[in-house]
Amino acid sequence: MDLFEYQGKQYFARYGIPVSPGDVADTVDGAVAAAEQAGYPVVVKAQVQVGGRGKAGGIKLADNADEVRHHAGNILGMDIKGHTVKRVWVEHASDIAKEYYASFTLDRAAKQHLLMLSAEGGVEIEQVAKDNPDAIVMLHIDPVDGLSLAAATQAATDARIDAEAIGGVADMLVKLYGCFTKGDCDLAEINPLILRPDGGVHALDAKVSLDNNAAFRHPEWDEFRATEELDEREQLARTHDLQYIGLDGTVGIIANGAGLAMSTLDVVNQVGGKAANFLDIGGGANADMMAAALGVINFDENVKSIFINIFGGITRGEEVAKGIVEAMGRVDLRAPIVIRLDGTNAEQGRQILADAGIPADKLISKPTMLEAAKTAVAIANGH
Ligand code: GDP
Ligand code: MN
Repeated sequence: MDLFEYQGKQYFARYGIPVSPGDVADTVDGAVAAAEQAGYPVVVKAQVQVGGRGKAGGIKLADNADEVRHHAGNILGMDIKGHTVKRVWVEHASDIAKEYYASFTLDRAAKQHLLMLSAEGGVEIEQVAKDNPDAIVMLHIDPVDGLSLAAATQAATDARIDAEAIGGVADMLVKLYGCFTKGDCDLAEINPLILRPDGGVHALDAKVSLDNNAAFRHPEWDEFRATEELDEREQLARTHDLQYIGLDGTVGIIANGAGLAMSTLDVVNQVGGKAANFLDIGGGANADMMAAALGVINFDENVKSIFINIFGGITRGEEVAKGIVEAMGRVDLRAPIVIRLDGTNAEQGRQILADAGIPADKLISKPTMLEAAKTAVAIANGH
């Protein structure tokens, strides 16, 4: 789950990471009240989960209430790269001497945490990686050992952080690592992490992504969930406990297992199609799950064909087939289904589908994943 900047900053503050005082508002009056509280000058910041807000006009400095009113009025409701601004974060403005970059992520291949640190912050880190890769220090951290202050200090030195900021940056790295691990983040990023003219350092931006698998030990995350931005399809999927992510293509996808679902997206892409979604129906692909899955996919008006890709292991082919037949009786599908059914009891499953009397243009069975993908894509592309 991705947090908005203001939530990320509140999360940071719990772990001792310094941020500017401020408050969130969803009205112009609320923004002025937040500004009075934070103390002028302030910066009014659009809360959308996309970078480059400054360039898009979503970040403005204000010296008094009139300016806050003016900027908040413009920013609230603004569209930034397809995201509508519903809230602004208003914080006391900082003087900036230098902008740095710091983040922690998990490097799955290395089975270690990864610190990325650069003295060239403020711009997109991808750009720094391209133009000046040597400016980014990467440090792997053994999760058992953690990050010591000495190692953080060394990393700051290696990244050529200004001498006066090294102590403060190292201290922040240790705290940010604490937030990342104890706070169960997939990503904890500060860009920019600033050095002020007075020699202090603090987080001027916050990008936090929480690991949903750890939600059970974080009841406090409920408040973040309340503002989570899901599209209508994703909201519908969530009410059915489906592992669904909306995409913008035309081939609806249902697969059992996250790995197979991802491969399915790849194959659809490979043969010239675009997936409308990711949907892992899991191990229990019974009629209820299948009906729910088809319902969500049918709700998406861009879907022109539905590719069901099942490889039965524990999931049995005849159960899946029964599920599809029953679900097709319940949901009036706008697009045809192309199915590849393989694995445990696939033969019986295909027989059940053949015997169900579903018109041949509504349900097409193909023996392999590739053939099924080609057929689904051909239909979606109107061939
Ligand atoms: P992003 O571009 O969407 O990542 O938004 P950021 O929060 O990173 O802000 C973008 C830029 O706005 C920063 O790199 C700063 O240069 C500038 N900025 C943000 N807050 C302040 C502030 O308090 N004072 C000053 N002077 N500039 C700020
Ligand atoms: Mn930023």
